[in-house]
Amino acid sequence: MKNINASGLKMTPQRVAILEYLHGNTDHPSAEDIYREIGKKYPMMSFATVYKTIETLKNRGELLELTIDPARRRYDPDTRHHHHLICVECKKIVDIYEDFQISVPEDHACSFEMIGNHIEFYGMCPECKKRKEPDLWENSPVTSAEQQKREGANRNSVLPAVNKTL
Ligand SMILES: [Zn+2]
Ligand SMILES: [Zn+2]
Repeated sequence: MKNINASGLKMTPQRVAILEYLHGNTDHPSAEDIYREIGKKYPMMSFATVYKTIETLKNRGELLELTIDPARRRYDPDTRHHHHLICVECKKIVDIYEDFQISVPEDHACSFEMIGNHIEFYGMCPECKKRKEPDLWENSPVTSAEQQKREGANRNSVLPAVNKTL
């Protein structure tokens, strides 16, 4: 019974890599994201292997499947109760840890005993907002990281170009 972890998964190096990638990951990656990331280290690993591992973890309650992104299913290794906020533009998902006290009116609750909720919020992240409002910010569509780089580059570009080769 060696090479089997607590979740009962046979622990191949590839699976360990998947678990390690997911551990503490707050990006809510899709199966494709996970496959792409693991593929950097294990280019021989098939998408089917990645997907099967995801399915196993999901079925064991160790991975949440999110349907908030209409384009693709996303996965969350944090199985604690929390809510999600998605950027409708770039599909970035962030966690919301807040216990919302929402009650469903009697006539809508169909006599159900309520045990919980999962709320999906939709919005636009600051980066996308900047992109959508170019007049207020700047003209090109860039992420904040790229923008920092650009701002750096712009600062440099006011200097005489001769510095480049030094
Ligand atoms: Zn966004
Ligand atoms: Zn989450």
